[in-house]
Amino acid sequence: MSMKNKDLLRSKAFVDGKWTDAHSGKTYDIKNPADDSVITSVPDMDEEDVKEAIEIADREFPKWSSMLAKDRSEILDKWYRLLMDNQEDLAVLMTMEMGKPLKESMGEVAYGASFIQWFSEEAKRVYGDVVPNHAQGKRIVVIKQPVGVTGIITPWNFPLAMITRKVGPALAAGCTVVIKPAQDTPLSALAAAYLAQKAGLPPGVLNIVTSNSASEIGKELTTNKLVKKISFTGSTKVGKMLMEQSASTVKKISLELGGNAPFVVFEDADIEAAAEGAIACKFRNAGQTCVCANRILVHDKVYDQFVEKFSEKVKKLKVGNGLDSGVDIGPLINDSAVEKVSELVEDALQKGAKLVVGSNKPEGRFFDPMVLTDVNDEMEMFSKEIFGPVAPVYRFSSDEEAIELSNKTKFGLASYFYSRDIGRIWKVAESLQYGMVGINEGLISTEVAPFGGVKESGMGREGSKYGIDEYLNIKYMLMGGL
Ligand code: ADP
Repeated sequence: MSMKNKDLLRSKAFVDGKWTDAHSGKTYDIKNPADDSVITSVPDMDEEDVKEAIEIADREFPKWSSMLAKDRSEILDKWYRLLMDNQEDLAVLMTMEMGKPLKESMGEVAYGASFIQWFSEEAKRVYGDVVPNHAQGKRIVVIKQPVGVTGIITPWNFPLAMITRKVGPALAAGCTVVIKPAQDTPLSALAAAYLAQKAGLPPGVLNIVTSNSASEIGKELTTNKLVKKISFTGSTKVGKMLMEQSASTVKKISLELGGNAPFVVFEDADIEAAAEGAIACKFRNAGQTCVCANRILVHDKVYDQFVEKFSEKVKKLKVGNGLDSGVDIGPLINDSAVEKVSELVEDALQKGAKLVVGSNKPEGRFFDPMVLTDVNDEMEMFSKEIFGPVAPVYRFSSDEEAIELSNKTKFGLASYFYSRDIGRIWKVAESLQYGMVGINEGLISTEVAPFGGVKESGMGREGSKYGIDEYLNIKYMLMGGL
C-alpha cells in the first residue's frame, strides 16, 4: 500500500505559508516504527525558529480574527473536504509514521476531519449575551473574543486528530496557531497543513514547527509573551511542567493528560457485549490511548465467564505491520514503550498475576496481546498507564468496592461500566470521579461530545459546543449614561 498523492509527504516545516528549513539547517529522521525504515527527514527547529513562527502568528492575528466568521467557516469546511478526499493517503502516511493498523488510521482521519467540520459550523455560533441591568440607565453586554496566538503541543498516538481537535476550535474562534507535533509523528500534521493551504487558509495563520528538542520549543511557547494560550495533550509529567512554565505569563491553558480508565463489568451486565466492548476499548491503537481500559474490574459472580469470553476474542486479534490487511494490532511506538510495558507485566507476574493469554516476549516492537488474571491493586499496573496491549482483569464483590477501586487513582479521564440496572447505572455514573463515562459502551470519542478529564487528567474540554470556549475570552461591557 502506498500513497497516490506524493505531495502529501512533506519534509519541511510550515511557517508563514512557506515550506521552511531550520535556521541551523539541522534535520532529523522520521522512521516507521514497524521496521525502522526511514520515511523522510524534517527540520530540527530550535528556539529561534519557534520565536519567528510566534511573531508571524501574532502579525496575522488581527486580520484572521477580524475576518467574518462565515468566511473562516468556509475555509475550514473546504479543509474538511480535502482531508476526507485524501483519507486513504493520509491513513497510509499515518500508519507509516505511527504504526497503527490501516483501518484505524482511516478511522482517525475521519475522526480528525470531523473536528474541522464541526468547528467550521461552530465558528458562526459564538454568541454573546445581554444581561438584565442592575441599575437604571445602564446596560450590560457580554461578548466573546478570540484569546490570541495559541501554542499547541501534541502527542504521537493520534498524529492527526490531536491536532485537529485543537486547531479546529482555535481557528474557528479567530486565533492563530503555532503547532509543535510530537517529534516521532510530524508527517500527518504537515500533510494536513498542506491541505489547509489548498483550502485557502491565509499564510501565517497556522504554523508548524518540527523539532527533536521538545523542551526548548515548549519553553519558548509557554514563556513568550505573544502566546496567550497553550493547549497540550500528552503525559501528566510534561503537562504539569508546561502549566508551571505558563504561570510566568499567566496563559490560558487546556491540558489533556494521562488516564487510568476503569472498565467495570457488574454481575447483571450483558457479558458478551462487555467482552466485545472491552476488546475495542483496550486494544485500539495497541492499547496506546489515554482512554484505553487500563483496569478491567469484574464482579466475582461473572469473573470466570467474562475472562473466558474475553480471552477467546483476544486470541483472535491479529498482530502485524499496520499496512498488512486484516491486522488488528500494530507495533508499539518505540523501544522504550516496549520496555515499559514489559516491566509492568513482569512486576505483576512476580506479585502473583497469571498470564492466561499472550506473551510478555515481544518480537521487536510487536506484542501478542495479553490477558492477566489474579491481579490486585498492589501491582504497579493498577496505578500506572499501561499504554500497551495488556488487559489485567481485577475481581470485586460489591458496587461500593467497584466504585472505590475505580476512583483509587490520581487520574480522572475516561471510565466505563456495563450494567442493565437503571438504579445502579445512575448511582455508579454519578459516583465515578471522571470527566467521561461510557455506559454499556467501550468507545466514547466523538466530535459532538465534550472530551476531557478531571483530577490530574487535566482541564478543559475538546469537541462539542463547549470546545470553542477554550479559545475565547469573555468580555463584559457596562454601558452607562443612557
Ligand atoms: P507521550 O508519553 O505521549 O510521548 P509526552 O508528554 O512526552 O507524552 O509528549 C507529548 C508531547 O509533549 C510531544 O509533542 C512531546 O514532544 C512534547 N514534550 C515532551 N517533553 C516536553 C517538554 N519538556 N516541553 C514541551 N513539550 C514536551
